[in-house]
Amino acid sequence: MNKTSIFLILLAVIAAKLSAQEGKTGIESRLRYNIGALSHDSMFGREAGSASEMKAALFIEAAFRNDGLKPYDPGTGSYLKPFKFGPLLYKKSSLSINGVKYRSGVDFGAVAGSSDGELQAAIVENKIFPLKSEEAVKDIRSKPTVYLIDLKHEKLNLDQPENPVNMAVQDGYAAILLSNAYEPDFKNRLFNADSTVLFPVPVFYITADLAIQITKIENPTCEIEVSIDRKRPAAYNVIGFVDNGAKKTAVVGGHFDHVGTPGSENPVIGDPNICNGADDNASGTAAVMELARWASQQKNLKYNYLFIAFSAEEKGLFGSWNFCNSVDFRKYDFAWMLNLDMVGRLAWNGKNRLTVEGVASSHEWKSLLNKTEHKAFTLLRIKGAPGYSDHFPFVKHHIPVIYFSTGLEHEYHKPVDDANLINYAGEAAIIEYLERLMQNAEKIENPGFHKISGWQNFKAFISGLVFRR
Ligand SMILES: [Zn+2]
Repeated sequence: MNKTSIFLILLAVIAAKLSAQEGKTGIESRLRYNIGALSHDSMFGREAGSASEMKAALFIEAAFRNDGLKPYDPGTGSYLKPFKFGPLLYKKSSLSINGVKYRSGVDFGAVAGSSDGELQAAIVENKIFPLKSEEAVKDIRSKPTVYLIDLKHEKLNLDQPENPVNMAVQDGYAAILLSNAYEPDFKNRLFNADSTVLFPVPVFYITADLAIQITKIENPTCEIEVSIDRKRPAAYNVIGFVDNGAKKTAVVGGHFDHVGTPGSENPVIGDPNICNGADDNASGTAAVMELARWASQQKNLKYNYLFIAFSAEEKGLFGSWNFCNSVDFRKYDFAWMLNLDMVGRLAWNGKNRLTVEGVASSHEWKSLLNKTEHKAFTLLRIKGAPGYSDHFPFVKHHIPVIYFSTGLEHEYHKPVDDANLINYAGEAAIIEYLERLMQNAEKIENPGFHKISGWQNFKAFISGLVFRR
């Protein structure tokens, strides 16, 4: 048994002791303990892809297990869901059609699951699919042919064996060009994302405009070259499930990773460069753990709940994007997503105010917020919910979101974002409020997604920079 395991067992024992305490002081003392542990120097700033990220992930997992949540993987009993993050390194990615060169990342992109390759071939757009006759298959296989798939209104699910890309591969096409004018995040999902499937041929995403252009060319031919370096670091989301046998599932999430120790390569405890991230986002992680504990103790809940501590948020929301683009995501019928990012500094600016964003993402949020008592603070209601935290991929997948924060303080992303600055009584009050809010949200049959406009998001972004200070 190594030192880390002994440390984790000790933590689990102390956590179990603390969970035995009840009531407000219970919440507050658990917050002190969990935020203290996650933002301790020995966590070295919890950078995604590092050993300290894993240490933090195992700490959260121990709490989920202790509180009786079901593991993400019932087979292994693990709550950790690994994913790769960071951009794929495109050593080569080129496409030209009838001699005209197009721009990688703008007009087209090799999708994450593309194989490497180089070819010159005719492009066909075949409506009969899969190819019916032996002759047609033979014909396709006799010379390299690139297949153009315009998905139009069909949602592409690459994890399903019967997807059009797999069928085209089976028919013998040498490469595939995919386009879809309908799915809003088609490009994000396929290009430069984490891929669970690898195709045996080059597969390119192209814009809908380019797809239309190609169909207007007589006998189009293309030249394709792609080479991808796939060595990317792994990170881990920590996922616990409260399964109430319900139809709908709600998500309560917050990121646990932080920015590490910028400026120190081999830091030791006490290094002044360790960014402990107590408010960002040990505070939100501890809140997720506390709400998970609460939900697992409730009887007769009408929703199932997924509690997710996301990783690689600081690298670009990779954990939440990975979850939203995963096969698992499509197994659930999601009611809403609650995001907690920086909830530990209530009244830091002298204003006793909790910000709530995403109010426009469901018609139900306004009345839910009005009917839930919040005596300990005022609420700053903001309609938009821009892309600066883990709620964003859920918005993009048309799931109502509600995002709470005590605001962007002066210590944000600095080594001085420490546990001693946390307002523990304030965060305990926020958690009690969120318990009431979730209790009231249980009465909503179907919150229903309402699109947030660009203008609402712009205003939310500006208010994040100015008014919350
Ligand atoms: Zn954050």
